[in-house]
Amino acid sequence: MNILVLNTGSSSLKFQIIRTDLEMIEKGEDEMLAKGLIERIGSQALISYQVVGKGQYKSASPIKDHKQALNHCLAWIVDPNTGIPGIEGIEDIHAVGHRTVHGGEQFTSSVRIDDAVIKSIEDNIDLAPLHNPPNLKGIYAAREVFGPKVPQVAVFDTAFHSTMPELSFLYAIPYQLYRRFKIRKYGFHGTSHRYIGYRYRKLENLSRDKVNIISMHLGNGASACAIKNGKSMDTSMGMSPLDGLMMGTRCGDLDPQVVEFIAHKENSTLEEVLQLLNKRSGLLGISGLTHDLRDLELEWNEYKDRRAKLAIDMFAARVRKYIGAYMAEMGGADAVCFTAGIGENSAMIRREACEGLEFLGIKLDDKLNNEMIGGKEGLISAKDSKVKVYVIPTNEELILARDTCRVVLNAPLP
Ligand code: ADP
Repeated sequence: MNILVLNTGSSSLKFQIIRTDLEMIEKGEDEMLAKGLIERIGSQALISYQVVGKGQYKSASPIKDHKQALNHCLAWIVDPNTGIPGIEGIEDIHAVGHRTVHGGEQFTSSVRIDDAVIKSIEDNIDLAPLHNPPNLKGIYAAREVFGPKVPQVAVFDTAFHSTMPELSFLYAIPYQLYRRFKIRKYGFHGTSHRYIGYRYRKLENLSRDKVNIISMHLGNGASACAIKNGKSMDTSMGMSPLDGLMMGTRCGDLDPQVVEFIAHKENSTLEEVLQLLNKRSGLLGISGLTHDLRDLELEWNEYKDRRAKLAIDMFAARVRKYIGAYMAEMGGADAVCFTAGIGENSAMIRREACEGLEFLGIKLDDKLNNEMIGGKEGLISAKDSKVKVYVIPTNEELILARDTCRVVLNAPLP
């Protein structure tokens, strides 16, 4: 089965074509055939496509909306000159899987998209005003372009965290607010944390219920997840992705009183303060330079910029704090797993985040830590570390493709 996996942002569309079926899933033999990205939809868009094992195709062209972007991708995908093995026409795409950010409380696993599902995702716009509308644009576009014959599946970022117990997901505000408006922690990056749990159990040869790990997804957006007996027990993002760890431009944990204080002092509206906390805080806010950790490391290594280092240290300290908190919450964990852009590439953040945690049984091997970059997967803890530390490159698209395949075939979802 060839699955088109779509991830649509407000002005971007990312895709992969993944070949999978139930047997391939079982054997771990499913494979990505091609991928692409269109950025800056709505103006002169930047386009890059690649068939696995071949060179990248890059171009720029005006693209007005997500439907036009999808048609642009499809024209490339089915072009005989592109040469994706097994794909000669649009009929060779058997299903579409959509990354969907917020499933609210309704969606605890992936679902086939129909009018009722679309209506529910629309109803959740309230909860995810920045994320669900662009996801919906992808869904509307794909339904129009493919028609009703090609099944479409929504895979929710929040679904993996639906196993959190009440005492993790409730905020300590009047319970009526949860009852009336569903104000609670939902968590995000669920597809990534789920993949990390899956890879960990493959690497360790364990059954799902034996997975007791802390998954650290550290990218521009960052979240921690306490996975106990294979299920999400707690996570650091909240009702929105603003909460928890420090991020590229988001503040993470914050005293809510600060919101009112900034609004008062700066004479700004609530929206303006939230914009500041979402877009001008985190690594960018502290360094005053950039949200990009790689550049901050460069600023520190080359120019000894004090605030670049402060931003790096704060980021790592917050990660360390969550490791400690989740260790306590879980009653100990067997491993800490780092993933996403920073987790997969920054030996410096991983070293700092694990520093001083020997008392918890966490000890890194410096050489392994320094080597485990650029998409490598493996252990970075010392032989005598009680808790294993892994770097595991995430692969959300694979989970999306597998769930899409299972839903379409009515196979049980994990
Ligand atoms: P997202 O998907 O949330 O946009 P990514 O997972 O792509 O984010 O992570 C982006 C972050 O990873 C950036 O801060 C970037 O600087 C960092 N990063 C990527 N490569 C490296 C590297 N080699 N060294 C340090 N940081 C890196």
